[in-house]
Amino acid sequence: MKPLQDLVRPNIWKLKPYSSARDEYKGVSASVFLDANENPFNQPYNRYPDPLQTELKEQVARMKRVRPEHIFLGNGSDEAIDLVFRVFCRPGVDNVVAIAPTYGMYEVCADINDVSYRSVLLNERFELSADALLAAVDDRTKVIFLCSPNNPTGNDLERKEIETVLNNFSGMVVVDEAYSDFSQQRPFREELGKYPNLIVLNTFSKAWGCAGIRLGMAFASRPVIELFNKVKYPYNINQLTQQQASEMLRKQMNVNQWVSVLNTERGHVMASFAELPFCRKVYPTSANFFLAKVEGADRIYEYLVENGIIVRNRSRVVLCGDCLRITIGTPDENCKLLGALRRYTKA
Ligand SMILES: *Cc1c(COP(=O)(O)O)cnc(C)c1O
Repeated sequence: MKPLQDLVRPNIWKLKPYSSARDEYKGVSASVFLDANENPFNQPYNRYPDPLQTELKEQVARMKRVRPEHIFLGNGSDEAIDLVFRVFCRPGVDNVVAIAPTYGMYEVCADINDVSYRSVLLNERFELSADALLAAVDDRTKVIFLCSPNNPTGNDLERKEIETVLNNFSGMVVVDEAYSDFSQQRPFREELGKYPNLIVLNTFSKAWGCAGIRLGMAFASRPVIELFNKVKYPYNINQLTQQQASEMLRKQMNVNQWVSVLNTERGHVMASFAELPFCRKVYPTSANFFLAKVEGADRIYEYLVENGIIVRNRSRVVLCGDCLRITIGTPDENCKLLGALRRYTKA
């Protein structure tokens, strides 16, 4: 890895961050707070939340087995993705490299930040070739984006290939593990000590069932987390979100049970889907969704909409012609989907 200073935008490296009232006074013994121009009435909503989410990070640290200093919490992982661009990539100068197909936010954030986005096609089985990816790198490539299990394809990228990227690229490597709770693969956040250029993304939006509270996590080396903290909005995680996440972490059992139900359902739904006469292929998945190639994806998508069932039509995504992406729902929802699809066949 290059020295961090060579990777970070010079203006960010020397940025003096905003210092909030809650940054300057961190003690707990005071009882009269007249420092932040808050309204003393309307408790508990009247107070600004903890800008660094200290308590919540301690809980996340225990659950994820990562030290609190290696954790950034964002308004969804989308905030962390955007911060990666704002911290590392000079607009109009630097570029990033990513796989295709993959999660759309990397390219959108690149476009918003005026950073050129180089995508390298996976093969027809959606597998990563580290060599092909590294061939797209030049001396202005600051970040490589990987997503495993990948979205919209669902498959785990091969661990060896990811390691080759981490070992051979001198910039930052983002490994988005939004769906890792559904996968059998060992999560890359356990490798932070081994790879100083690694940034791992996790989220409360999928296995944790909290897409509505907007809470994402990034795990990285301490200096990288400090850069994120410097650039983020001072109070990026609101009080209600911090409270709700904290409560979720106290009842972790629920999550394990959801994941096991969803993984079992996934097997049933995929097997039944494969039997449908218009199904050409069900791709292997390690996430809470699967990708399927069908005959006439647009027609099937529209038919499902008319029946009040919404799946994701990915048929215009590279390598995903005539593909639908289907999220695993409750057993009842999955039954409704399969019932409707069986009736489509007969129609
Ligand atoms: C859903 C998803 C996320 C989660 O984004 P949030 O902003 O945390 O809701 C991140 N990465 C991928 C690949 C996803 O599919």
